[in-house]
Amino acid sequence: MVKTRNEKIKAIARFYSYEGQTEQLIEECAKLIQAAQKIKRAAQGQGGTVEETTRQMAEEAADVMIMCEQIKFYLAALDEPIELDPIINKKLDRQLTRIEAEKKKRKEKKQHGQENP
Ligand SMILES: [Mg+2]
Repeated sequence: MVKTRNEKIKAIARFYSYEGQTEQLIEECAKLIQAAQKIKRAAQGQGGTVEETTRQMAEEAADVMIMCEQIKFYLAALDEPIELDPIINKKLDRQLTRIEAEKKKRKEKKQHGQENP
């Protein structure tokens, strides 16, 4: 039977422990930070190419996302479940509101600049 992505995440999370996977999350986050840092160095001509380091960062980002999906599973399985999706949605909406406010501010600033060159 072919498992869906969510079924695969659940199977992995069930096999390991919350404590173990949070440790793994910390490790994967550290590797992602390092990979992102290497792109900056590659852009300055140090280390590998930007293409290579970008691919490495994609690998590490995938690992972090897999760990976050497992954390999402563990949080939803708590005695007092914490659902990640509503938190994510709230944050996305808040950020989009901030962007709209910033756009408005920039537009006003631009108009003001044109009025007073
Ligand atoms: Mg990794």
